[in-house]
Amino acid sequence: ATFQTHIQSSHPTFQAAKATAWSVTDKSKLVQEVMQMVNNNRRNPYSKVLKTGSATKGIVGDAYNDETQEAIIWTTNLYLGLNRDKKVIQEALIALENHGTGMGTSAAASGMTDQHLEFEKEFADLVGKSSACLFPTGYTANVGAVAGLLGKNDVVVIDQLCHASIVDGARLCGATVRTFKHNDVNDLEEVLQSETSPYNTILVVLEGVYSMGEGAAPVANIVRMAKKYNALVLVDEAHSFGFYGKNGAGICAEQGVTEEVDFIMTTLSKAMGSLGGVVAASKEHVDLLKSSSRAYIFQASVSPADMAAALTALRRLRSDAALQERLWSTTRYMRNQFEAAGYDLGTGDGPIVTPHFSDKDKLYAIVQSLYKKGVQTSAVTYPIVEPGKGRLRFICSAAHTKEDVDKTLAALIEAEKEVDAQLAIIRNATK
Ligand code: PMP
Repeated sequence: ATFQTHIQSSHPTFQAAKATAWSVTDKSKLVQEVMQMVNNNRRNPYSKVLKTGSATKGIVGDAYNDETQEAIIWTTNLYLGLNRDKKVIQEALIALENHGTGMGTSAAASGMTDQHLEFEKEFADLVGKSSACLFPTGYTANVGAVAGLLGKNDVVVIDQLCHASIVDGARLCGATVRTFKHNDVNDLEEVLQSETSPYNTILVVLEGVYSMGEGAAPVANIVRMAKKYNALVLVDEAHSFGFYGKNGAGICAEQGVTEEVDFIMTTLSKAMGSLGGVVAASKEHVDLLKSSSRAYIFQASVSPADMAAALTALRRLRSDAALQERLWSTTRYMRNQFEAAGYDLGTGDGPIVTPHFSDKDKLYAIVQSLYKKGVQTSAVTYPIVEPGKGRLRFICSAAHTKEDVDKTLAALIEAEKEVDAQLAIIRNATK
């Protein structure tokens, strides 16, 4: 099986992120491509800057010019809108007053407040594990967990669409790396049968929900298969923690495999609206990570304000079912309205709503046109998704309103009409 890293776009800058084997010269060519885009006044959807407003609505600018645009924003993963919650902000301010701006050292070397400890305890409790280990970002949580756990006589088997942080952790630990076809239990079995025999420990890694709008992964089936071969399992719940499962505990809880899954990971930057990453596991496994994970030991810990924000958000999402219901109700409304207007949303059912467009040029033109109409979204195309299955990506949050959905749909219908007309002229002229 081949490596296919999880890059969010075929935009040149993201191609570069994929290109770990490329030389500096090759990478510099990509920079030239980006600058050419900018000089040709083609907007770069990844250089947007939020000037004022929330993560769902505000004045958006561009890193390369002074123009601004008021927009409804569908490109952040702040699923529960807790980044703007009054209590979350208030607790972050109190932590700033009490502890200042930064911890100044790693968690392993006294870089923790009581709130760091409370967060680890309460997160572990919510997802059904006995302990947890905090990292300063979700990215380093995955790198730290995989690389902290495994060594060169081990093997890590990852879903081919797993996030870059999982791939990087796998590369870093020196273990043998294998991939299995996306969500494919039979392919996983083939890999486990054929490629893992001389190794000590096998770790299977997958995500609870992948970020391209497909809905929940068959986690229970994959976990059962992994256990048949005595593998450890790590599930990344970045796109599911907080709004799947009882009290937002995630997909492992929802699919009833909490006990069998050895490591439950999530980021603090999405549903919890903060910054940080966390891995919950048995006490033995967490102790092992805390003493062997370089990302844990050699990196400053989550800042006091981020920690207080995440802890408050965790308590809130756990106790306030209405918050999750708001996200799901907006999600259902958006899906119904878009489908009623004739858009193909693929197989998903979650908050990442993805109208499919097989024509790549049309897709990118629609993104540009939507931005001018006050709607910020992004496009995903091959090789991130299968050829011909390109899509727009709208990430719903509990902070979006039905009015936002209505405005967005109206803008999309208009944008598509305009783009169709423009493309017809161009294509006729070049026939
Ligand atoms: N895992 C997954 C599946 C993700 O989507 C992301 C972020 N896009 C991460 C890990 C990393 O999290 P963070 O951005 O909070 O470091």
